[in-house]
Amino acid sequence: MAKKQFKAESKRLLDLMINSIYTHREIFLRELISNGSDAIDKLCFRSLTDEGVGMERGDFRICLTVDKEARTLTVSDNGIGMTAEEMEQNLGIIAKSGTRAFRDSVDAEKAAEADVDVIGQFGVGFYSAFMVAKKVEVLSRAYGAETANLWVSEGVDGYTVTPAEKESVGTDVVLYLKDDTDDDKYSDYLQSWKLEELVKKYSDYVRWPIKAMVERSVKKPTGEYDENGIEKMTYAYEEVEDTINSMVPIWQRSRKEASDEECIAFFKESFHESEDPISVIRVNAEGMVSYRCLLFIPAKAPYDFYSRDYQSGLRLYSNGVMIMDRCADLLPDCFRFVRGIVDSPDLSLNISRELLQHDRQLKLIANNLEKKIKAELTRLLENEREKYEKFFDTFGIQLKYGIVGDYGMKKELLQDLLLYYSAAEGKMVTLREYTDKMPEEQKYIYYAAADSNERAAALPQTERVRSRGYDFLCFTYEADEFVTEILRAYAEKEFRNVCGEDLGLESEEEKAESEKVNEENKELIDFVREQCGERVQSVKISNRLESHPVCLSSEGEITLEMERYFRSLPGVDMNNMNMKARRVLELNLSHAAVQKLESERKNGSTQRAAAMAKVLLTQAEIAAGYAVENPNEYTELVVSLF
Ligand code: ADP
Repeated sequence: MAKKQFKAESKRLLDLMINSIYTHREIFLRELISNGSDAIDKLCFRSLTDEGVGMERGDFRICLTVDKEARTLTVSDNGIGMTAEEMEQNLGIIAKSGTRAFRDSVDAEKAAEADVDVIGQFGVGFYSAFMVAKKVEVLSRAYGAETANLWVSEGVDGYTVTPAEKESVGTDVVLYLKDDTDDDKYSDYLQSWKLEELVKKYSDYVRWPIKAMVERSVKKPTGEYDENGIEKMTYAYEEVEDTINSMVPIWQRSRKEASDEECIAFFKESFHESEDPISVIRVNAEGMVSYRCLLFIPAKAPYDFYSRDYQSGLRLYSNGVMIMDRCADLLPDCFRFVRGIVDSPDLSLNISRELLQHDRQLKLIANNLEKKIKAELTRLLENEREKYEKFFDTFGIQLKYGIVGDYGMKKELLQDLLLYYSAAEGKMVTLREYTDKMPEEQKYIYYAAADSNERAAALPQTERVRSRGYDFLCFTYEADEFVTEILRAYAEKEFRNVCGEDLGLESEEEKAESEKVNEENKELIDFVREQCGERVQSVKISNRLESHPVCLSSEGEITLEMERYFRSLPGVDMNNMNMKARRVLELNLSHAAVQKLESERKNGSTQRAAAMAKVLLTQAEIAAGYAVENPNEYTELVVSLF
């Protein structure tokens, strides 16, 4: 029969796995056991609603059997099994999760050549079998099927699937171990002590019994009696079938019984993560609803985290049965980056598969978890700032979404978790830290928006605020201003954009004065306004500039940054005036350049004055972060002034 080929990517990984000198081969057992356990979860879940399964919870198990002569190790489960198509789909390509992690990793191949623990980090699932086996057979009968199928492969050159017989539903994975070499003793995996050691190390918490023939010291009667007439016993080692894992899931254990390190190892393995999480959160709640949970704040966002495809949620167990892989109702949306497990005996599914019936209980849990997560983030913020900043770098945007979403319902919860770059301090600060340092007379929280902190900090419009000795926050994320709109104020201080119309720095007299100045310079203003054409809506004499000649600002609701954000959205009609900022060109009357322009205009050198006005306008646009629209014209204008 013609062999079928593995998908290209799988082939590459497979090849790598077979040939690399890989020191942690032993994880193959963990991977196979974990697949078996998942398959049992699935069938057990079926059995809740489907009487035809005909199995009790106590019937499920995973067995490890060895045949020393044939040099085989078999991992069997009585889980849901696979049809021929499923074998093709699942074993013909590397599990998506594994492949992805692999693709994500920086130069994984090089790392593997250098014998770095790339594979162990990812848990590449079923394929890891090829690290220890020269041939792998998978005999599987799917639940609901009468016949079975046999998948066989000797590695990269492909695999076959043929119909076969199997008495009961489930899967046997048979590994034909590689020959021993001087360095590698594959035959160790035929030894019961070795298997027991590996199960204890990697799979102890698996919820289903893992059975194997192991050596146990067994009490034996000797036929001899002591002076009291009691028969003397002897102890002898014998191979007996025993359950070799403790079966207590890690989240059911106390802090003493499961260290943070163990939880972290569990997280990486179970959620296919390559990095340690930033935090481990454990909850053991009793009351209206009892549950235990083990939550993790990951260090890295999944590649699709900020896309629509990303499915958030916690893994939900009830009485040790996995009910749902990603139960979104358990996790408040603003914290959707959290991964983990919730196990509650109160959410039994006997009545119906519909989880909706537990809506109220799920909400209760979600509310409580929200508090716990907030508390943990606050703890990090206060005690482990560096870690928190790393977290915020990755998931800060999600917190901002959280504030903008749900009509601002979560703003109280989230506002103290925000960090912004402080121009004065040159580091990230919270709103509390900013407002605490505000001079008494400062009325507003100022911010400047641009595409980088450096740019925002250097905006000409910030001069006035700066010269007052006020700090301002740098906004670099396009929706930051929407966040401030929702928050409106923090510690009773409203937010003000340094580029906005009114910085609130002027007294009534100063305002009147500034109106007067504008009135007095009407001719200059009208002249410049005429040169600007469509590029600005109005021109005025600035009261915020000191060393810069001009700047761009906006009047009305839509700021320059908001307009930029709207432009970045797909399908927004930018001809709609409601999406555009009303641009204002501000002139600094005390700047030599503006004074020069004005004197040329008054002299009647209209052309020169017009060229200067256009050059200054372009300067203002550049400083505001816009590209020069017509570089040729601009260059000519500049040159014409010499
Ligand atoms: P992962 O477990 O990360 O999905 P694997 O490569 O280990 O990746 O397995 C791929 C898929 O093959 C599994 O998701 C599952 O659908 C199927 N599979 C593997 N082993 C078994 C098994 N013992 N019983 C049923 N299905 C299995």
